[in-house]
Amino acid sequence: VTSSPQQDARLRLACEHLAIANRILYAQGVFDAFGHVSMRHPEWSDCFLISRNRAPALVEPNDVYALDFHGDLVEQVQVPLYLERFIHAAIYACDPDVQSVVHSHSPTVVPFTVSRATTLRPLCHMTGFLAGRLPNFEIRAHRGEASDMLIRDAQLGKQLAACRAGAPVTLMRGHGVTITGNSLQEAVFRSIYTEKGARMQLQAHSLGAYECLTDAEASHAEQANRGQMTRAWDLWRWELRRQGLDIAASFGETTPRID
Ligand SMILES: [Zn+2]
Repeated sequence: VTSSPQQDARLRLACEHLAIANRILYAQGVFDAFGHVSMRHPEWSDCFLISRNRAPALVEPNDVYALDFHGDLVEQVQVPLYLERFIHAAIYACDPDVQSVVHSHSPTVVPFTVSRATTLRPLCHMTGFLAGRLPNFEIRAHRGEASDMLIRDAQLGKQLAACRAGAPVTLMRGHGVTITGNSLQEAVFRSIYTEKGARMQLQAHSLGAYECLTDAEASHAEQANRGQMTRAWDLWRWELRRQGLDIAASFGETTPRID
């Protein structure tokens, strides 16, 4: 495979953005030692970019690899991969609109995956994308009562993607959440606001009965927020610098890879 300098530059920038997205999601409390974010490959639409198996806050651009829709490395190299990479592979394979996927164990969202009393709802304009009934993936329906809860193979990935059925936010019972976007920025934005929205709903609940957005309010609010993604991203990037969590200054000068 040959590539032009422009293609190489685009790929380098994508790897850099993906490393930044990993760190933002850590700094904003969505990721801890676990969680992963991917984006569709900028040149090859049948592949996606994702870090090798590494804690998100430590991901450098050099850690990013291309995987195919079987969840296999495109390059002939030996690197440890995320066990749950099949989540990403299956969603890109079946939904051409998805440009980015975030899987996390977002701490305030997890209680909503197990609650029998309530579901996660759009309470405020920043979470309009939570409208409708969110799918909640029940792994017991596929693997019985004794799975380890992980989406650890291609078949489970496909079952999760089928349960998602195009929804931007898919809860996973007793596990976490998988969130998609039409861009990396949108998937990051939705992931952070899903966590914030869950916190707000717990607080509203503590006051008693509460009101949710109508479907029309949610949809209009989401349209309005689409134009604001960069403002949020810039702030979250600035937070990384302030906290000393930003990636090394320029690609190529990052710490050497140790496997
Ligand atoms: Zn997981």
